[in-house]
Amino acid sequence: MPMLEKVLIANRGEIALRVLRACKELDIRTVAVHSQADRELMHVRLADESVCIGPAPSTESYLNVPAIISAAEVTNASGIHPGYGFLAENADFADQVEKSGFTFIGPTADTIRLMGDKVSAIEAMRKSGVPTVPGSNGPLTDDNERTLEVARSIGFPVIVKAAAGGGGRGMRVVHNEAALINSVQVTQSEAAAAFGSDVVYLEKFLQKPRHVEIQVIADGQGNAIHLGDRDCSLQRRHQKVLEEAPAPGIPDDLRNQVAEACVNACIEIGYRGAGTFEFLYEDGGFYFIEMNTRVQVEHPVTEMITGIDIVKEQLRVASGMPLSFAQEDVNFHGHAFECRINAEDPQNFLPSPGKVTTFHAPGGLGIRVDSHLYDGYTVPPFYDSLIAKIISFGESRQVALARMRQALDELVVEGIRTNTPLHRELVLDRAFQAGGVSIHYLESKLED
Ligand code: ADP
Repeated sequence: MPMLEKVLIANRGEIALRVLRACKELDIRTVAVHSQADRELMHVRLADESVCIGPAPSTESYLNVPAIISAAEVTNASGIHPGYGFLAENADFADQVEKSGFTFIGPTADTIRLMGDKVSAIEAMRKSGVPTVPGSNGPLTDDNERTLEVARSIGFPVIVKAAAGGGGRGMRVVHNEAALINSVQVTQSEAAAAFGSDVVYLEKFLQKPRHVEIQVIADGQGNAIHLGDRDCSLQRRHQKVLEEAPAPGIPDDLRNQVAEACVNACIEIGYRGAGTFEFLYEDGGFYFIEMNTRVQVEHPVTEMITGIDIVKEQLRVASGMPLSFAQEDVNFHGHAFECRINAEDPQNFLPSPGKVTTFHAPGGLGIRVDSHLYDGYTVPPFYDSLIAKIISFGESRQVALARMRQALDELVVEGIRTNTPLHRELVLDRAFQAGGVSIHYLESKLED
């Protein structure tokens, strides 16, 4: 199987540059597609070809399927890499890409659909032996007595979740029996309006969980492996802020057991590409909540501790090649952190787009910076505020953390405001330094 010859990168910002770098390394030609507001993006300058696909609003550009497919046609691209966000988990897009004769760099549309519906995803995971949250094991019906029974057997508090929900929306926590049926009905009608489906299900509400996820990669030819775990518990409004690999303080036999269950699930569902199994972790138990069928923002921390280039591997398996290594070839070494630097006001978190007058990236042993910034670049106001990822690696968690502290001190972004002060505070935080804080820790710290 030959490697894809030319890849269209259907994304922007740091991830577009990340994909471009992997393509260059593999001698794959690149096509950048960009909105009218994004002509100055770093990867647009570096790509072999570029095509403007529409006006600034993403609905008219990065989400504009016909424009992206036409750009692939006119440039004679062979594959399309969706990055993360935008169309990355849109099964209809994956279908259209393939039907138009291009390779979608990701799983099949059917897999995306299976995992996009939380009820079917949980069902598939349960069958493969992946631990899930105790719950209704399927949609709730209008049989209120049964709903009450399910909730009683799980024990309150419970959470009502929309099968088609996403982005932290379509969920409601219920603390007692009296509020249950009304909460189910309200979530059903909200879900119908927001996601076009009123299917909801019930789960035990975990009170102080951590967010721990497992990275997998599979070739769709019967080979699947895991690349260990990451802890992404530091979140604000369900958005990850700072991540690390491996997740601290989890017994190795437990983490291996869950990772192996994820690998089995990949083989069972015929998974192809990179993916992440997201879990809540509480009191020594893993509970699957959802699978992301794409490369994730925080993938670099895993690359640092395994030495494996996840994006290159995505390109290989999308080209029809088998994985370039087996599970026993994966060696875990050291520890890594990632700070997401956003163009936002550090006090009120409001976006802070504008012209970057000075950008100085940190460096030194064990520091990696994934960023599309340069002096004079203007951050447009239309998109996600992520402008840089500072990644640190060390042979121990302590060394990686010390390097991150220094890197954050070296980082200079002038002309716009960024959340760097928050990161500088976080790396000095005692509870975070100790490791293993819950998903509520950051928000409660910010309230103080
Ligand atoms: P989305 O697709 O909207 O991101 P998830 O199922 O991943 O939805 O849940 C988003 C977040 O909601 C989780 O990261 C967690 O903070 C919270 N959450 C979801 N399910 C539970 C649960 N059973 N118990 C406690 N918190 C939960």
